[in-house]
Amino acid sequence: VARTRRAHHDSLRRAGARAPAGVAPEQVVVVPIWQEDTKDEVLEYAEGVADDLDDAGIRVELDDRDGRNPGFKFNEHELNGVPLRIEIGPHEVEDGELTLVHRPDGESVVEDREGVVATVQDHFDEVYAKLYATAEETLDGAVREADDRADILGTLGQHGGYVTAPWCGDEACEEPIKEPMAAEIVMVPFEDDDPLAEADHGETCAICDDDAERTAYFAKSY
Ligand SMILES: [Zn+2]
Repeated sequence: VARTRRAHHDSLRRAGARAPAGVAPEQVVVVPIWQEDTKDEVLEYAEGVADDLDDAGIRVELDDRDGRNPGFKFNEHELNGVPLRIEIGPHEVEDGELTLVHRPDGESVVEDREGVVATVQDHFDEVYAKLYATAEETLDGAVREADDRADILGTLGQHGGYVTAPWCGDEACEEPIKEPMAAEIVMVPFEDDDPLAEADHGETCAICDDDAERTAYFAKSY
């Protein structure tokens, strides 16, 4: 199942929409690691990487704070739920590379600097698949179905976990769930694996009653 689903951010990115605030502050953080004699080149390189990602519409933070060591920064971003980290030190600059680290399991991969946008998007796919796999294991059956707003709120309120509902794809339809309960859409299955992504299924959005285009997974945000 994990392979066939992707998280909310990624689906929205592919659909060209903005992901809702509050799921994670950034999708990727760039952490330059320098000594005094390498500071300028490392920072310049890191800024270039962050700019490329930002230009592509990826929510990126360049963490160039002085006075915080890299380990501190890594911890902080992990606690904040940033799914992907890019580490850049003098070696990466010298070799024209980047080190990418996945939040869920700490896997670290060295990639070329060139083509960073496509590379980061590929890594998002992997990271969200890992996050989803973890959630599936943890929840183990805690996914329930609902087909209208009251049902979504009632089911989340009573059981927590995940609630699936047909969704039109419009983020405005997340608001009536978000406001009363601080719940939100946390996942959308891969298009190929979502029966509601196909035509003529006859299902309508649980919130607005327009045609449903995707299955949305709602969960309380913590
Ligand atoms: Zn809707």
